[in-house]
Amino acid sequence: MATIFSKIISGEIPAFKVAESDNFLAFLDINPLAQGHTLVIPKKEIDYVFDMDDDAYKELFLFAKKVARAIKQVVPCTKIGVAIIGLEVAHAHIHLVPINDVYDIDFKKEKLKLSHDQFVQIASSIASKL
Ligand code: 5GP
Repeated sequence: MATIFSKIISGEIPAFKVAESDNFLAFLDINPLAQGHTLVIPKKEIDYVFDMDDDAYKELFLFAKKVARAIKQVVPCTKIGVAIIGLEVAHAHIHLVPINDVYDIDFKKEKLKLSHDQFVQIASSIASKL
């Protein structure tokens, strides 16, 4: 069965996309820890990041680097924090989270509630820096 992220790749489920290449996609997390919280995924479905072959793994992180630099230009923050959790969605993904404090990347923290327009605006601002 296709993962929810594969359904985003195919367009079956909508997402606020910020960057796309032949093999990778970046889109806003629907339950963000911070404005600009982005997920970066390989289009090829694989559960665990550390099971990816070396080339795909390197390309995923290089793609994430570009996206992180774009987020940093748009969202006021000290750094872009990086996390790999993968306990909820079995499709490899990197979380990119703007942070000022270690608490900002605490996944037990209450998530932000953003409006559709806020998601659209953040996604397009990040995309404009890529
Ligand atoms: P993890 O698998 O890393 O524990 O968590 C999966 C992440 O994906 C969560 O932060 C969750 O908010 C996000 N997520 C789950 N379903 C969707 C979805 O349908 N769309 C988007 N944009 N994000 C999702």
